[in-house]
Amino acid sequence: MEFSYLNDKDLLYYSRHILLPNIGIEGQQKLNSSEVTIFGLGGLGNLLSTYIASSGIKKINIVDFDTVEETNLQRQINFNSDDIGLSKIDVIENYLKNKFNDLVINKYFEKITTSSQVKKIIIDSDIVIDGTDNFIVRKIINEACYKNNKKLIIGAVEGYSGQLLSVISSKSACYECTYEDLVDNNSCSDTGVLAPLVGMISSMMAMECINIITGNKSSYDNKLVIINGLNLSVDFIKTKKNPKCMICS
Ligand SMILES: [Zn+2]
Repeated sequence: MEFSYLNDKDLLYYSRHILLPNIGIEGQQKLNSSEVTIFGLGGLGNLLSTYIASSGIKKINIVDFDTVEETNLQRQINFNSDDIGLSKIDVIENYLKNKFNDLVINKYFEKITTSSQVKKIIIDSDIVIDGTDNFIVRKIINEACYKNNKKLIIGAVEGYSGQLLSVISSKSACYECTYEDLVDNNSCSDTGVLAPLVGMISSMMAMECINIITGNKSSYDNKLVIINGLNLSVDFIKTKKNPKCMICS
């Protein structure tokens, strides 16, 4: 993280964040100096990348290999019908740069298959955010973050269920510890997905990221949050490090 002073324009733009007791000028400077990597520009990545950029984080790496499809538009709210067929990273880059003109965006049009590939992307990141849509890729990102000491926030939405988990340090239960036996790999094309629930989880991921950067405080370390979109219940499940975890022990 390189330190950056806020100019007059920044002080005005971020004034409503600066007024918050846990952010202030110091916290806003930390946000403006941070680099964040976002994997996946589906429903989660759309809103998430917008809130991350609007919070003042100036360096954002975006990773995705997909193109925009008609069925995405219901929940991937930064896309419109003119974007169908275009690559998601190009559309999101244009969208964010139009809104936030001093943003530095690095684009990675890549399908993630190895931990070393992830390492190259995240090497300078303060926080890594995983909004991808399958367990195999999440496990690869989890492995790379653990090996390279990167704080990781993972979100997922399937059907009426939204989930959120952070892996902050070597003391945290990692994604592999939490989902060791999971082989199921449903996607939203099989199960459907409730659009506002995607917005809710992506907003929570963005808040978690802001709180970690400004206050060094995670709300979801060693804690899996499950939100049921049908009755709006929120459950917290305590997670524990698995002493036999193939990644973190
Ligand atoms: Zn583990």
